Amino acid sequence: MNNLELKNRDLDVLWHPCTQMKDHETLPLIPIKKAHGIYLEDFEGNKFIDAISSWWVNIFGHTNSYINEKIKEQLDTLEHVILAGFTHEQVVRLSERLVKLTPDGLDKCFYSDNGSSAVEVALKMSFHAHKNDGKKDKNIFVSLTNSYHGETIGALSVGDVELYKDTYAPLLLKTIQTPVPKDMSIESAREAALEFEELCKVKAHEISAIILEPLVQGAGYMHMYHPEFLVLVRAICSKYDVHLIADEVMVGFGRTGELFACQKANITPDFIVLSKGLTAGYLPLSVVLTSNEIYAKFYCDYSEHKAFLHSHSYTGNALACAAANATLDIFENDNVIEKNRVIAKYMGEKLEKFSDLNNVALVRQTGMICAVELKGYSSQDRIGLKVYQHGLENGVLLRPLGHIVYFMPPYIITNQEIDKMMDTAYEAISLLP
Ligand SMILES: *Cc1c(COP(=O)(O)O)cnc(C)c1O
Repeated sequence: MNNLELKNRDLDVLWHPCTQMKDHETLPLIPIKKAHGIYLEDFEGNKFIDAISSWWVNIFGHTNSYINEKIKEQLDTLEHVILAGFTHEQVVRLSERLVKLTPDGLDKCFYSDNGSSAVEVALKMSFHAHKNDGKKDKNIFVSLTNSYHGETIGALSVGDVELYKDTYAPLLLKTIQTPVPKDMSIESAREAALEFEELCKVKAHEISAIILEPLVQGAGYMHMYHPEFLVLVRAICSKYDVHLIADEVMVGFGRTGELFACQKANITPDFIVLSKGLTAGYLPLSVVLTSNEIYAKFYCDYSEHKAFLHSHSYTGNALACAAANATLDIFENDNVIEKNRVIAKYMGEKLEKFSDLNNVALVRQTGMICAVELKGYSSQDRIGLKVYQHGLENGVLLRPLGHIVYFMPPYIITNQEIDKMMDTAYEAISLLP
């Protein structure tokens, strides 16, 4: 097998995610033969630093020996069993740990197998909890401008990134967007919270929940805001009987400097949605946690028809739960959050010099996410693609979002590797027309 052969066979039979396939007439696909640590390797021995953690999922490196071992153990014991009417040790242990680790007051775990499905679960549960409570008019979901919550119809409906949403507008649920804080200042957080409160004053009787990405809007071009916004939104939600759904699919599991971003604001949402880092990028798994209070609204005799009759074939898959338990072991044993703070500080120092470039508008950082916003280009310029190509030619997988070049590496990256990753991006940006 070689790079070329696999590329050609691929293009005969595959349709890739989030891709204009015609681009591959000029932009080569990259067949990956193997991967270890932060490095991906193709069939010719070229190595690439995975600066985006393989789409934000891989937090402890590829083929991590500890996680490998735990999955192999599980493979010979139990690979999967139906979770309706049955249970298994990995899912119980994982749920106990998640209840303990997430903010106080999140007591019950409901599993699915990707971030979008988990968002759907949270939306349906929120609506259904109000309905079981006798509140039948709460049919509207609120989200933030510029938000991203996944690609299925419900998740896309609460998202607000034009590029993904506009085509499907006629199919989507009716939702309302309230402004995200425009920058990272506390003043902007307060202004945006005021707007949300104004909306609640008029419409709260129709609003089921607000869903938001705490602190960082990932696919929304790594837009970041102040934790005070979460504090204020939490208070407004409680006052107006609107649920708060925290979509921590991207920011969860240590990305922002705490295990969960909500902990930076010391709040408990009514629902927290987790996926991506949950299995350290090994297997598809997601979970929604909610309170005993919301759980209780569904708990009654079957004949009352209040049960949450939602399921997925692979709900609570045992191999995925084993990967998640191994991931939590690493957090527990390796002092990851503390170490991340040190790495984030180093990345932050290196980030500053990007501001010197005259095609850089600004830089921003939250924990292990650094972003460089370019200026002076239109979307037609496809400027991100040029950075992407320069990165690949120099052994770094960068995948800019439009005019935002960002770094979101696995947590095991060394300072030397950070130098290589960020210096390559710096060079790419300084070479742009
Ligand atoms: C990636 C993402 C999702 C969707 O998760 P998938 O597993 O890709 O369906 C939802 N919300 C946020 C914030 C995400 O970053």
